[in-house]
Amino acid sequence: FKKINYLCMKKALVAGAGGFIGTHLVRKLKKEGYWVRGVDIKKPDFSKSVANEFMLLDLREKKNCAKALKIRGDFDEVYQLAADRGGVGYMVPKETEMMYNNVLINAYMIDEAVKAKVKKYFYSSSVCVYRDMPVGYKVIKEKDVYPAFPDNEYGWEKLYSERLVLAYGRKYGIKTRIARFQTTFGPEGTWEGLKPKAADDLCRKAAMAPQKGFLEVWGNGRAVRSFTYIDDLIAAIRALVKSNISTPTNLGSDEYVTVNELAMDVIKASGKKLKIKHIKGPVGVQSRSFSNSQIYTTVWRPKWKLIDAVKIHYDWVKSQVDKKYGKKI
Ligand code: NAD
Repeated sequence: FKKINYLCMKKALVAGAGGFIGTHLVRKLKKEGYWVRGVDIKKPDFSKSVANEFMLLDLREKKNCAKALKIRGDFDEVYQLAADRGGVGYMVPKETEMMYNNVLINAYMIDEAVKAKVKKYFYSSSVCVYRDMPVGYKVIKEKDVYPAFPDNEYGWEKLYSERLVLAYGRKYGIKTRIARFQTTFGPEGTWEGLKPKAADDLCRKAAMAPQKGFLEVWGNGRAVRSFTYIDDLIAAIRALVKSNISTPTNLGSDEYVTVNELAMDVIKASGKKLKIKHIKGPVGVQSRSFSNSQIYTTVWRPKWKLIDAVKIHYDWVKSQVDKKYGKKI
C-alpha cells in the first residue's frame, strides 16, 4: 500500500533540509501532500524533520548529488537550498569557504538534476547579488543587477550559480525557478555563533541582557533593510514555483526599516528596558530597496508585519536561551 501511495504522489527533494528554510519548506510540502526527501550534511538543529526520507550526504561530492536525486519515478520538484552561509559577521572571514563549497554544490546539483530528469528545479539565490545602494536610492528591479557588482563574494557565487541554472535550463529544457531571498528570520533559525543574521542576533542579545541593560548594535544602525518572516518566504517560494516566471525573482517583505528600528522592535518584544548601544562591527550594505512587482504577478503578498513577527521570533529565541543557559535572565 505504501509503495502505491508513493508512486502516485508528487515527489520533491529538498537539499538543505537540515537548515532553517529547508526545515520549514519540508513541512509545507508535506502539508500540501507531497512525498518529500530531505538531504543535508546534518540533521535539523531544533526539531525532527518531517520528511518521508532524510539522507545525510555531503553535496560537495558529485556522486552524493546523484544519490540524492536517484528515485523511482523521478522528482517533480527539486529545491536547492543547501549552502555554506551566514550573516554579515560570517561573510568576510568565510568568503573562500563559501565560494568554494557553494559553487561545487550548485554545479553538481543542477548537472545531476538534468541527468535524473527532474521536472522543475528551484534555486535559492539572494539579494546579495545586488550592489550596495545609498539610502533613498530607487527601487531595484531584477534586471538592475547588471552591470553586476555584488557587495560580497557570497553574492558573486549566487549570481554565477543563477546563470549556471539558467544556462542548463536553456540547453536541456529543465524548468527552472530562481528566487532572490531577502533576509529571512523566524523560529529554528541559527541564533548563536558566527552564522546568525541581524534579527536572530539582536533577539539573542536582548534575551541574554539584564532587565535594564544595553542592546548592542553594530555600526550606527542607520542602514536600511527589510526582514522577511519565514512563513511569508515559504508561501512566496511555493507561489513562484507554481508560476510561469522562469527568470530570477526578488522575494521578500516590502516593509523597510533601519537596523535601529528593528532593534526597537526587539526591545519591545523583550519587555525589558534596554538602551541601544552602537558598537564597532561589520555592517554590510547601506541600503536595500527591491521591487516586488515580479512576484506580485502571482497571488502572493507578504502577510506579516515586522513587529508581530519579531515578537514570535524573540519568544522562540528566548526559549532557546533559557533552555541552554537556564532561566537566569
Ligand atoms: P541554513 O544555513 O540554515 O541552511 C543551509 C543548509 O545547507 C544547512 O543545513 C547546511 O548544513 C546545508 N549544507 C551546507 N553545506 C552542505 C553540504 N556540503 N552538503 C549538504 N548540505 C549542506 O540557511 P538558510 O537560511 O536555510 O538558507 C537556505 C538557502 O537560502 C541558502 O542557499 C541561502 O544562501 C539562501 N538564502 C537565505 C537567506 C536567509 O536570510 N536565510 C537569504 C538569502 C538567501
